[in-house]
Amino acid sequence: MAEDAPHGLPQAARGASPASAGGTGSQPAAGDTIGVACPLCGTPGSTTWLLRGEWRYRQCAACSSVWLDPLPSESWAEDFYDDGYFEGGGRGGYRDYLADENQHLANARARIELARRFGAAAPGLWLDVGCAAGYTLAEARSAGFDVRGIDVSPWARKIARQRFQLEVYPSMPDAVRQHAGQASVVTMFQVLEHLPDPLAELEQARACLRPGGLLLVETWDRGSLAARLFGKRWQQITPPSVAWLFDRKSLEYVLRRAGFETREILATTKAVSVRWACGLLAEKLPATPSSVLSRIARSRFGQLELNYRFGDLVTAVAIAA
Ligand SMILES: [Zn+2]
Repeated sequence: MAEDAPHGLPQAARGASPASAGGTGSQPAAGDTIGVACPLCGTPGSTTWLLRGEWRYRQCAACSSVWLDPLPSESWAEDFYDDGYFEGGGRGGYRDYLADENQHLANARARIELARRFGAAAPGLWLDVGCAAGYTLAEARSAGFDVRGIDVSPWARKIARQRFQLEVYPSMPDAVRQHAGQASVVTMFQVLEHLPDPLAELEQARACLRPGGLLLVETWDRGSLAARLFGKRWQQITPPSVAWLFDRKSLEYVLRRAGFETREILATTKAVSVRWACGLLAEKLPATPSSVLSRIARSRFGQLELNYRFGDLVTAVAIAA
């Protein structure tokens, strides 16, 4: 795979590593194994980007990827994304995913509007990978699209069926078998960073799309100012749930490898509830009195809407080449 390594890419953005914010830096840590090859581009000689307890994130100097070493297995994900992830709080998940329905629907409408700006038009097949409870698909169906979901989580598939009568496949190979070359739109909102093998998943997304079809990938940008300022405390450093920390270079690289042409990578905002923000703070700032946060989250203020706009969330708009 080494011959597929990107040429002309600068050295990995060292300024985007937590080293610049008082983190562990990009020097190999004690016990590091020199020579571990990048799972994306195959270049040997990755370095430790960050140690968090027993977890290690590695960085590739060639394609700028950062990944969790070892990467989680496919079967691990099915167990991890259970009802506790969506309803239990902690583990980088949600305190009460369904309680934020208004925010999920507002975000779904904004995503459909974005797809339309880049040429998506009903009727057509819209596949949402990592569809969770199915809010985006429900809105896309209302906008005239034929819709299917993909989600590894049994909880998500059950809720999406019950709440919106959606058909949801457990894996991408199932979607490819049913819809190869048929989809007009494939979307992945905050999914890519959780996948053991994002390249394989994107290749399967490419296989589902018709030529010229639209792909939207929303993920977090570790090269953003917010990520660099927060350093080791950046909210996305959540092993083992977050297996990949992309920046714009590595995101564009993996998309190109999977057969996509990136049109734009846009900074994205999203609606969140005070409840969600309290859950994030309680998990990321253990010094904050969690009883106070819980009380706020449960109060009528918990449902108030905030606009998340720290600049570290991005959406890649890409076309199936
Ligand atoms: Zn690489």
